[in-house]
Amino acid sequence: MPHLDDVLARIDARLERERGELLDLSHRIHAHPEVRFEEVQAAAWLTESLEAHGFAVERGVGGLPTAFRARLEGRGSGPTVAVLCEYDALPGLGHACGHNVIATMGAGAGFALAPLMSELDGTLLVIGTPAEEGGGGKVTMLEAGVFDGVDAAIMIHPYKSSHPSMGTLAATRWDVSFRGVPAHAAMAPHLGRNALDAVRLAFAGIDAMRQQVREDVRMHAIVTDGGAAANIIPGTAAMNVIARAMDGTYLFEDLVPRLEDVFRGAALMTGTEVQVVPSALPYLEIVSNPPLEEAFTRHATRRGRTVTPYDMNDGTGSTDMGNVSQVVPGLHGMLDIDDAALPHTEAFEVAAGSPRGDATVIDGAAVLAGIATELFLDTELMAQAKRAFQEATGR
Ligand SMILES: [Zn+2]
Repeated sequence: MPHLDDVLARIDARLERERGELLDLSHRIHAHPEVRFEEVQAAAWLTESLEAHGFAVERGVGGLPTAFRARLEGRGSGPTVAVLCEYDALPGLGHACGHNVIATMGAGAGFALAPLMSELDGTLLVIGTPAEEGGGGKVTMLEAGVFDGVDAAIMIHPYKSSHPSMGTLAATRWDVSFRGVPAHAAMAPHLGRNALDAVRLAFAGIDAMRQQVREDVRMHAIVTDGGAAANIIPGTAAMNVIARAMDGTYLFEDLVPRLEDVFRGAALMTGTEVQVVPSALPYLEIVSNPPLEEAFTRHATRRGRTVTPYDMNDGTGSTDMGNVSQVVPGLHGMLDIDDAALPHTEAFEVAAGSPRGDATVIDGAAVLAGIATELFLDTELMAQAKRAFQEATGR
């Protein structure tokens, strides 16, 4: 087996040669933002370039047309390491979550390792996962078996600072609709049953819960149908509700039944009927994997990045990578592309296509390739990652 330091030097040299193609790929995806499940161009560009680097590519995996799985076998048997790409944009905001950077860091890890796999034992996968922004692409792909046989799944998200992990919340959502009886609001209001009142009371019920839930809980909602005219008692009304908490156990065993009681209570108070449709694709919290996170810190530091622990007071979000990390040892590292801008802002969209964003594409590719190399070369690291996963999940 080759020595780790030699392989890392060859990864760095390879990425210098691939820099032009990688950054062109990042800029093209950035300039042509495609929202969830519509990432046709991004998926085509990524799969074409992975094929050109020797990967065998399956398109449309998991029943999702813009998903893919690119495979490169190594010299002999060993772990299967999956590098994950995201490439969906936000409606109206373009690549304000920097998924063009995620996509090309993942592809770049593939480009860097492609000429080296003939000397390494194991299998390298680059998996394209659509619709992270609210579509739960990875959840669908997990259920379809796309991650079967994967020993570790690793990815990096751009951010305003560099961390080996991200604070995440488990999240779920509902479409809640109420059906009452419409009536003339002046002539015969007593004949009506007001569905919009049920929505208002559901909001009030959610607000009343806020004092009796843990501090990490987030609950937010919008009205998706509020009636047609003020002089008609609304016969139908609807809302979309999201609830999040630090762990799925508290979310699903405590909050979910209480919120569904609130929806039913609002219907009872107003004499309306309620239909509660929960999301089929809840996002789960990320399972921390210290051995993989330490590997991230080693490689990001090697590339000159200052890595600090993630500060949970800095804000948290939800990602379908959480669901992956519940099933296989997973890593969701963060690399800086700006000092201040936060994801889902215009400033972050600019950073994702900036020279600093470009530097992060190259560094991120080197970090992912470096971690994968360690997993191929060091059976003890792979074993530690598996033990940490088993301890955390009981699987
Ligand atoms: Zn994102």
